[in-house]
Amino acid sequence: MSDLKEHLTFTPIESIKPGVDRVRKGFHSTQRSHSLQFRLNQLRNFYFALSDNIDALSDALLADFRRSVVETKFLEIGGGLKQVLHMMSKLEEFAKPEKVIDIPSTMQNQPVFIEKIPLGVILIISPFNFPLILSIGAIAGAIAAGNAIVFKPSELTPRCSEIFTKILSDALDPDFFFAVNGGIEETTELLNQKFDKIMYTGNARVGKIIAQKAAETLTPVILELGGKSPVIVLDDIEPENIPMIARRIAWGRFMNCGQTCIAVDYVLAPESIKDALVKEMVRIIKEEFYPQVKSGHADYTHIISQRAFNRITGMIDNSKGNIVVGGDRDENTCYIHPTIIDNIDWDDSTMEDEIFGPLLPVISYTDLKKEIKELTSRHDCPLNQYIFTKNPNRSENKDLDFILKSVRSGAAMVNDVVMTVTLSNAPFGGVGQSGYGSYHGKFSYRAFSHERTFIEETLATDGHLSWRYPSVTAEKEKL
Ligand code: NAD
Repeated sequence: MSDLKEHLTFTPIESIKPGVDRVRKGFHSTQRSHSLQFRLNQLRNFYFALSDNIDALSDALLADFRRSVVETKFLEIGGGLKQVLHMMSKLEEFAKPEKVIDIPSTMQNQPVFIEKIPLGVILIISPFNFPLILSIGAIAGAIAAGNAIVFKPSELTPRCSEIFTKILSDALDPDFFFAVNGGIEETTELLNQKFDKIMYTGNARVGKIIAQKAAETLTPVILELGGKSPVIVLDDIEPENIPMIARRIAWGRFMNCGQTCIAVDYVLAPESIKDALVKEMVRIIKEEFYPQVKSGHADYTHIISQRAFNRITGMIDNSKGNIVVGGDRDENTCYIHPTIIDNIDWDDSTMEDEIFGPLLPVISYTDLKKEIKELTSRHDCPLNQYIFTKNPNRSENKDLDFILKSVRSGAAMVNDVVMTVTLSNAPFGGVGQSGYGSYHGKFSYRAFSHERTFIEETLATDGHLSWRYPSVTAEKEKL
């Protein structure tokens, strides 16, 4: 922790409660965030704070865990800016009250709406792996829906968190935004405060701590967790499709050094195809994607911490499979080479928990149904699932249909990986063990609003309501 503190100014514990109180007061006493113009101004300031600091943020992540500057610009900031713009362009549409139809005849002449009101103060706790885009999406949604925000980024990317919280604190209205930097102690103090909703992105162990604490004050929570997202290859694949499939899987596993919540965690491949697929993935790693990669390389993200390094290398060393590429590492820099382990079975060390590192176990199968049963009994509800098949038509492809009905997942893709996260207006979130609640675009707006039913009655006449009063009349008997 002392090393992290060198690059990150931890928020003094005693200033956490006053900071939260400040934005709570800002939200309740000024009512400014009910105005769409105020929200637009905040989103615009947010947008420029990011776009003016692209280099500083990218350089910080390069220093934090050797994340390539291009990857940060492309995967995180570019995507994040699009999310902010989407929110700005759709704000009026998202905020518009919805007219309720099919209302009782006794209300026919009265306006009945669902209005979307801000929840209040939202606590957003973000992880290290994509520290920008995951925070940007949540913050943009909470601002758009008219809330005040308390933001706690990960302490594991200290340089990035230091800059990011500074530029946001400078850009956003201090009555509506408060950033807290720190680790467990600071987050625990934050959780002692009252919020109107908490959004936590990270691992399930801490997710349970957050949800338990929130339950004490009946605070609603969104949990964006992880899981073992499988690739399932079907046996209808033609040999000429294997290079493309191998490339997609390798990208989905090894980008960001495997530290991606919806990364490919493992591959289930039919025995008839498995060897050719593994051979091609090895070739792609060696010749196309990572020919020069070694410890300290600036285009290949390293593992975030010594603890995570030990966990992942432990999985590799305890595995009973064959390492067909990789396995080499450097403890001093937390470097692990892209690694594929073949001939894995379900009891292997690599199949217990989410890997969250550059390691791809491959299991071969002959009986798909048996394998899916194994999958659902061990790792039900992954964040994503990816199925490769020649025939993506679900009504014709019984195996595809069977998998999609059997494996409940946050999202699913046929013939590609990871890209679900890029959708601005489709729900991004888990199910079961991979979390609950979702966000992105209109789903963020909904997640950070309360949908309030609103009936506008008239005082001009009581005639249309007389049926409900306790006097029995001939009129009522007719109803
Ligand atoms: P992390 O270690 O950066 O922790 C996440 C946040 O939790 C940080 O802000 C950290 O300060 C806080 N935290 C850590 N320990 C705490 C404690 N005891 N009490 C309170 N707060 C605490 O990141 P991580 O959890 O290692 O992230 C990796 C996990 O997150 C993986 O499982 C991954 O799949 C998941 N993830 C999910 C998504 C998603 O969108 N569903 C996105 C990214 C990561």
